[in-house]
Amino acid sequence: MDLKRRDFLKVVGLGAAGSMLPGCGGETAKLIPYVLPDEEIVPGVANWYASVCRECEAGCGIIVRVMEGRARKIEGNPDHPLNRGKLCALGQASLQGLYNPDRIRGPLQRDGERGEGRFKPIPWEEAMSRWVSALQKHPGGAVLISRPVPGTLAGLFSTFMKEISGTVFFYEPSAERPLRAANRKSFGIDFLPDYDLANTTYLLSFGAPFLSHWLSPVHFGAAYGRMRQGRPEVRGRFVQVEPRLSLTAASADRWVPIRPGTEGLLAVAIGRLILEEGRTNLPRGDRSRFEKFYASFSIDRIANETGVAEEEIVRLAREFYTAASPLAIGGGIASEQTNGTDTLVAINALNLLVGNINRPGGIRFFRPSDFPASSAEVVGEQALLDLKGPSKKASRSVLMLYQANPLYTLPPSTQFRQVFEEADLVVSFSPFLDESTAMADLILPDHFFLESWGDHVTEGIAPAAGLAQPVVIPRYDTRPVGDLFLGAANRFGGGVKERLSWTDYRTMVREQWRDFFDRRQPGQPFEAAWVEALQKGGWWKPEGKPVSISQRGAPSAAEPARFEGSEKEFPFYFYPFPSMGLHYGQGANRPWLQELPDPMTTVVWGSWVEINPKTAQEYGLAERDLVRVISPYGEIEAPVVYFPGNPPDLISVPIGQGHRAYGRYAEGRGVNPLALLAPLIDAPSGALATGATRVRIERTGRKGRPVLVDQTGQGTRRHTEGGEGEA
Ligand code: SF4
Repeated sequence: MDLKRRDFLKVVGLGAAGSMLPGCGGETAKLIPYVLPDEEIVPGVANWYASVCRECEAGCGIIVRVMEGRARKIEGNPDHPLNRGKLCALGQASLQGLYNPDRIRGPLQRDGERGEGRFKPIPWEEAMSRWVSALQKHPGGAVLISRPVPGTLAGLFSTFMKEISGTVFFYEPSAERPLRAANRKSFGIDFLPDYDLANTTYLLSFGAPFLSHWLSPVHFGAAYGRMRQGRPEVRGRFVQVEPRLSLTAASADRWVPIRPGTEGLLAVAIGRLILEEGRTNLPRGDRSRFEKFYASFSIDRIANETGVAEEEIVRLAREFYTAASPLAIGGGIASEQTNGTDTLVAINALNLLVGNINRPGGIRFFRPSDFPASSAEVVGEQALLDLKGPSKKASRSVLMLYQANPLYTLPPSTQFRQVFEEADLVVSFSPFLDESTAMADLILPDHFFLESWGDHVTEGIAPAAGLAQPVVIPRYDTRPVGDLFLGAANRFGGGVKERLSWTDYRTMVREQWRDFFDRRQPGQPFEAAWVEALQKGGWWKPEGKPVSISQRGAPSAAEPARFEGSEKEFPFYFYPFPSMGLHYGQGANRPWLQELPDPMTTVVWGSWVEINPKTAQEYGLAERDLVRVISPYGEIEAPVVYFPGNPPDLISVPIGQGHRAYGRYAEGRGVNPLALLAPLIDAPSGALATGATRVRIERTGRKGRPVLVDQTGQGTRRHTEGGEGEA
């Protein structure tokens, strides 16, 4: 795309100004392309609208090309400080969410037993009455499970649920709860950090998959590019410590395989060496706490437990402390264990030891912007599991779901389905019939995000709030979830009506932005600032002032992780890893993402089991043999793909497939490896330890047909492994 920024602002400004035309009324305010006078809609000429990508929690700025009322292409917003014009595959594919043939087209009610997945239409008025009267019948018992929605919607949900004495949980499987918990222990701050990768000279990553799906992958991918190639005089070095050769590990200068769940121990060994060799910048007053902790760990014991040789540990420590701008980060499999938080505290300690907090190339914390009513504390899986604990909070009550699919992302071993079964009424606001929505009694479908008003407060990276505007007319008889909650508040009356008295969600968003601008620049004319925010796609500062950190927390524990399943009966570690395109399954209903080859194996449209070729030979398994993977909690079958980057004692399966619902592109395809997991939790963060289950494998004697993609001189060739012909 060759769109100059000046042209972009020009065309978007036209659209934004059009949206503000006086006298358009409430309804037309949502129909942005058609508030332009007819004479300004030129067939074949595109308008561009700035908005926010809501396909993951990063919230990248986007611009959408719209022609004749149809969204044609999405690009990264060149001005947005998070992604600076770049976009990932998931963001690009959001058009296939908007135009997905399996979107829910209007309100539905259950027609059959709960969970049968049979629904029939219900008029909006009747659906709203049923929902609100159920809430009124269950004072204090309602539960809302929502994906994190930092911004006006978080404020609306929180206020609504508080006023009706209900509970809201902001939940997402990749919400990095252990990282927040670790940052609280290390720095006294529990929001997500910014890592200044662009200025790092030596990056030591413990499993952080920052080139695929971690935190803000577009932001960190671009910063990593600058670290490697953006400075003529220095190319930053990068070492990835990780059991499996992931996409991120494959990009490193050196990959250091390690036994799963021992990454924190390795960080402790490196920390001990930094102190022993007198290379710390830690203030003298803090040093003794660190020394006391490290004293009980010996390097040879750690080498033995981690499987990383002593010489390698010494080399890592010396490379780290001699670098001009070293940085240690941790995530992915390192944090998805029963000791995830402790591991990340031990990794944070390396940054404290070399004093790279708020230094170029180091770790920084930017307080999220002071946008009103935006807080959305994200919970770990334990908080959801407590719903079926002794309090049985959701039992005989109203369970509501907003774009959360716990029946796919929580393993059956957690028995979370019980929460659905015991609720009096299950209401979903999802635009798609996913596994959890299929258990609903009432579906009140939200607009797709490209049809909606909204905003998104960026966490960590820079002070920024993205402003989302509709770019097309809503395609179906759906309603913005914000309007639904405001409508419900109005029907409820009393305190909730008083607190949420806006006539519609667009007005509420506008008023939040008015407050925001008033507090930043009292007396500034609001309309001009609002139109500018619509033009730009939000508000941000190019660089904020990092929060100063006075707490320097030493590690307090670093034991190897616990695993469910005896080593004798279940000889393999098991690693379910989020797929590059499908993430935790939300991308599975987009054909472009199904068609995106896995970067390490090139498999498309299905699941596979990654096995080291030596292990496969021991078990007599040829490529594409169907193998059964069995844990103490379940079993799955998928074809074998040899992968030498998978160590012999590890079995890896991508997450994302294995949907029992979620539309034609997702349903009945592949397997969900989360089904095998034990209900083990990292206690300090409450996050599910997805890497804590052991498995065994069995031959089935049958063949599978994984589809792999080759780049040949003639272009792209799709074939089933084993050469049985074109797929
Ligand atoms: S990282 Fe990708 S999916 Fe997430 S907000 Fe950015 S473009 Fe969208």
